[in-house]
Amino acid sequence: VHQIHVIGGGLAGSEAAWQLAQAGIRVRLSEMRGVEATPAHQTDSLAELVCSNSFRSDDPANAVGLLHAEMRSLGSLIMAKADAHRVPAGSALAVDREGYAEAVTRAVADHPLIELVRERVDALPADGPAIVATGPLTAAALADSIGAATGADALAFFDAIAPIVHHHSIDMDVAWMASRWDKGETKDYINCPMDKEQYLAFHQALLDGEKTAFKEWEKDTPYFDGCMPIEVMAERGVDTLRYGPMKPVGLDNPRTGRWPYAVVQLRQDNALGTLWNMVGFQTKLKHAEQVRLFRTIPGLEKAEFARLGGLHRNTFIQSPKLLDGTLRLKSRPNIRFAGQITGCEGYVESAAIGLLAGRFAAAELLGRPIETPPAVTALGALLGHITGGAEADGYQPMNVNFGLFPPLEGAKSGRKRKGDRKAMMAERAGEALKAWMEGGVELA
Ligand code: FAD
Repeated sequence: VHQIHVIGGGLAGSEAAWQLAQAGIRVRLSEMRGVEATPAHQTDSLAELVCSNSFRSDDPANAVGLLHAEMRSLGSLIMAKADAHRVPAGSALAVDREGYAEAVTRAVADHPLIELVRERVDALPADGPAIVATGPLTAAALADSIGAATGADALAFFDAIAPIVHHHSIDMDVAWMASRWDKGETKDYINCPMDKEQYLAFHQALLDGEKTAFKEWEKDTPYFDGCMPIEVMAERGVDTLRYGPMKPVGLDNPRTGRWPYAVVQLRQDNALGTLWNMVGFQTKLKHAEQVRLFRTIPGLEKAEFARLGGLHRNTFIQSPKLLDGTLRLKSRPNIRFAGQITGCEGYVESAAIGLLAGRFAAAELLGRPIETPPAVTALGALLGHITGGAEADGYQPMNVNFGLFPPLEGAKSGRKRKGDRKAMMAERAGEALKAWMEGGVELA
């Protein structure tokens, strides 16, 4: 008889099941592939990589590389098999996708404490501990059940992502803080001004820019209110954006004393204030095109992007509202969520949240206290984004990045070169992880 039910054998579910089993817990792992396919997966292997074969940078001075290192320290199955099936890719960790996925599948299927069952689960378990890790393509009946338990507004089927910029890369000698019709009290937005010539050139560039096509199964995408791609809005007329997200009225530019012709606004995206999103700029422009075009916006010439815009099919919940600090559904604490469905983004991030969910559940079942990883570690920063750090309204999926970490202490740290800052953050994380692991939280 199993002690916990893990639903979904993707990146997150396989890692969660592994961590639980390694801690001595008996797991039932339900994976529907084998009886029912998803629109994106090609095989029946667990933890299949649906697209690229890259786990991205393996350099610990890069936030995802740091996450790799932390996961290795905690006995990650996904990282062990990725390392064992590595193919040359410079400083990135890329894998032989078949060898890697077969190795994960074998390790899970052969584990004496894991029962792998090929079945589709159609409802959230009513009682008994469970981890839901069904990913961005969660099957419809289970998605309905999750929607019923969380409230329909709390479950999204598409991400409509506006680019997110690191605050330190915005030129505040050009941009300024203000809210519309600002009376001096609330200066919530960063405003980047455009004159007529700049606006017209920008509008034309949006029309000309190269876009990413929808995948066949995404083509029926309805454009929901408030998430229409910026280039689609631009197609409706030369002034549509000036009456929409680029509306300048009520925004006095302190340098000219007048309203600009058009404005790009950025809104704070995380509690730390290190990340700002470009309001209304969700887009299907190609990534390189976004970087090129958005750096023509006055004040964003040197913008560094924590993530670029996009619009994809993606089932995810409003985690900051719904989950507690250890990934439990507040309204039904027998259930944890893990992986992309929590609103993290990427193979590595999904596996990392699976690792944490597995460990938290194992500690709970073993009657041990649950210590969450420190906020200065990559695991802690990512967990913080999911369970509380992000602005709950308009919560959108995000890759791990240094903007999610608490800033370095000390007045001068902000002036350090980018490379130095990242190296210092990585070093700080390494020390904190070590102390955390030595604090007796190691389960295996
Ligand atoms: P998954 O790996 O999708 O695992 C979920 C599992 O649950 C699946 O095996 C599914 O079959 C199963 N399942 C679903 N519903 C049920 C049910 N009701 N009962 C039982 N089983 C169920 N990230 C990157 O880093 N790089 C990329 O190149 C990349 N490309 C992507 C391309 C596409 C088309 C998509 C949709 C996502 C992509 N991602 C990419 C994002 C993301 O990292 C991956 O989707 C990742 O696989 C998420 O891990 P997961 O464990 O949360 O979900």
